[in-house]
Amino acid sequence: MKAIDHDRLDNVVLAARKSAEARAAGYRERALKIYPWICGRCAREFTLANVRELTVHHRDHNHDNNPPDGSNWELLCVYCHDNEHQKQIEADRGYTEDGTARRGGATHNPFAALQGLLKDKS
Ligand SMILES: [Zn+2]
Ligand SMILES: [Zn+2]
Repeated sequence: MKAIDHDRLDNVVLAARKSAEARAAGYRERALKIYPWICGRCAREFTLANVRELTVHHRDHNHDNNPPDGSNWELLCVYCHDNEHQKQIEADRGYTEDGTARRGGATHNPFAALQGLLKDKS
């Protein structure tokens, strides 16, 4: 049996990590190339002078989901971006957008799908 080549494995891991970092650093530039420099919420326009206040929001909140067509990105100014995530936090706590509590309280149950799967199996 051949011994595992640990040096080679380390290199593979290192290369994967490096390319993941490069991807993360690259999506903002790519988003700025695809989309006009306008905030998707308040429609504020940006120029080279202030474009660093324009940020890339991930529509599904998954920063690792960066399709090349930019469909998961939205350009938002820092204020609207903050706002967007604040809304998400409140939604997670069981509040709707107008601040009222959702009927029936928390509906999010990560185990519901799992229970369904188990039921199907038996
Ligand atoms: Zn804005
Ligand atoms: Zn975001």
